[in-house]
Amino acid sequence: IITVRELADILKVPPNQVMAELLKRGILATINQTIPAEVAVSIAEGMGFLAEIKSVEEKIDQEEEEEPSENLQPRPPVVVVMGHVDHGKTTLLDAVRKTNVAEREKGGITQHIGASVVELPDGRKITFLDTPGHEAFISLRARGAQVTDIAVLVVAADDGVMPQTVEAINHARAFNVPIIVAVNKIDKPGADPQRVRRELSELGLIPEEWGGDTIFVDVSAKTGQNIDQLLEYILLLADLLELKADPTKRAKGTIIESKLDKQKGVVATVLVQEGTLYVGDIFVAGTTYGRVRAMTDDKGRRLKSAGPSTPVEVLGFEDLPMAGDTFKVVPDEKTARQIAEARRLQKEQLEKVSRGLALEEVFKKIQ
Ligand code: GDP
Ligand code: MG
Repeated sequence: IITVRELADILKVPPNQVMAELLKRGILATINQTIPAEVAVSIAEGMGFLAEIKSVEEKIDQEEEEEPSENLQPRPPVVVVMGHVDHGKTTLLDAVRKTNVAEREKGGITQHIGASVVELPDGRKITFLDTPGHEAFISLRARGAQVTDIAVLVVAADDGVMPQTVEAINHARAFNVPIIVAVNKIDKPGADPQRVRRELSELGLIPEEWGGDTIFVDVSAKTGQNIDQLLEYILLLADLLELKADPTKRAKGTIIESKLDKQKGVVATVLVQEGTLYVGDIFVAGTTYGRVRAMTDDKGRRLKSAGPSTPVEVLGFEDLPMAGDTFKVVPDEKTARQIAEARRLQKEQLEKVSRGLALEEVFKKIQ
């Protein structure tokens, strides 16, 4: 649904022209009246404009590509923790956060924003996605978002390889994400870390110490044993992957989480992946858009800017974006509205198609 005024705005025509088009379709509408999306699409198409609004986004993307990444800088790795249920994913994430020196000094508490940054004493950082297990990884990936650089596969040393362990390996491989194995619960009496190595070797994850290329770290998420070593190995692998981004570009990223807060309105966590995001920036996220009103990091600190691999909670969305939606900063609000609206109309068309209501003709037009 869109108002006559908004549609006229998008089409860059006077509102009375839209009203005239509506009249031709037997609809008498005032400037602030809403019209169904399909009518809006039909008018846009009739005026030869749908192609134009679609191309707004393409034009911007082209400009972006022409803007070379001249200032590539190393960026922190983005890590997901995977593994069988009860093997210690949540406990491991908690243990990892406890090693966060900066946080401890501040006495700050990690807020749940969907991802958290661990900073080592020497300043190096690792970004962990908070949602353990496969859900985040899969749903984000299913929506085409490439967010993770490294998967930490947690396997309990007293339980060994289990069905979801195999599943996790398959997902990581399908998406080309390198795996580090955290052999967990080594504090337990029945722990057998060598058995985990044997079982995973059979699945093609051969430990480095056996001549393979997979890093295995024996840890206890409960006692904290070797967690620092695990972090070192993650950073070592990150160095090998040569993860880089250009912080001088306009920000691009992915929505990690979103919710409607009673006080704050729409709150979404954006993982900045490229460029730097600033307060005041205008952005498009999926089929919505907005302006960054305020940003906070995972420690609840207010930020004015956020560089690559930083997860930030952002206020200023017009509407609720979906996890996995792409996020990008655009030059101005008009562009943001146009892209969001074009995407929304296309999405509605697609939904119609999938409901089997659309005519072949409609389908052709959105190809
Ligand atoms: P998840 O399902 O993979 O997130 O597993 P949890 O982190 O919830 O852990 C499942 C259970 O294993 C909990 O009771 C934890 O306290 C326990 N646990 C996790 N890590 C360790 C560990 O290193 N040692 C011991 N002894 N118990 C652990
Ligand atoms: Mg858990």
